[in-house]
Amino acid sequence: MRLVLLGAPGAGKGTQAQTISQKLGVPHIASGDLFREAQQKGTELGRLAKSYMERGALVPDEITVRMILERISAPDCLRGFVLDGFPRTLEQAEALDRALATEGKAIDKAVYIKVSNEELIRRLSGRWICRNCQMPYNIISSPPRVRGRCDACGGELYQRPDDSEETVKRRLDVYFAQTAPLINYYLGAGKLVEVNGEQAIGEVERELLRVIARD
Ligand code: AMP
Repeated sequence: MRLVLLGAPGAGKGTQAQTISQKLGVPHIASGDLFREAQQKGTELGRLAKSYMERGALVPDEITVRMILERISAPDCLRGFVLDGFPRTLEQAEALDRALATEGKAIDKAVYIKVSNEELIRRLSGRWICRNCQMPYNIISSPPRVRGRCDACGGELYQRPDDSEETVKRRLDVYFAQTAPLINYYLGAGKLVEVNGEQAIGEVERELLRVIARD
């Protein structure tokens, strides 16, 4: 199963991608996590990505596409993957389709997790993430059991620098200008399925598993 998760920053893609990748037994591949990892390791890719991420802008397609195509060609992706945060532009979606087509493969479904603007802003400004396993929490809607610590692995929780109010606004603007058109792209390809992302996390997960199991 090759899945793409679509939705604005804060729609819950990361949370849902983690659970469905476990259920389907395929890797969860998050472009933002790969960029943050590269930054932590101090690689050239990390250094390049940093300047864009800090501003809430998109990393250029060429760099992003190369990173993702390399990742999905790894042996653990043979049975599929769940993409989270990629593609984010039409060019990225087309490059992904072209690369898969050369191997006789294709994306099976693009799941759009739909959440209203007001809810997105509320969620992003309260978001804390585990430094160790990337599990997201929200100080209002899904706080950790112990303050500042991850329920799953005990790791330290931190607030992403690009979750500040101004950068959040910029990231949402970028999403509406560049990424939202992908909804039509996958709709046109007959691959789009939609779930209501404003339900409780478990409900979103159940709906998501239902729509991806449907033919
Ligand atoms: P995310 O963790 O998905 O919110 O991504 C954080 C930041 O990484 C974004 O604001 C972009 O600067 C960069 N980024 C992640 N994925 C992509 C992508 N597919 N294309 C371009 N930039 C990306």
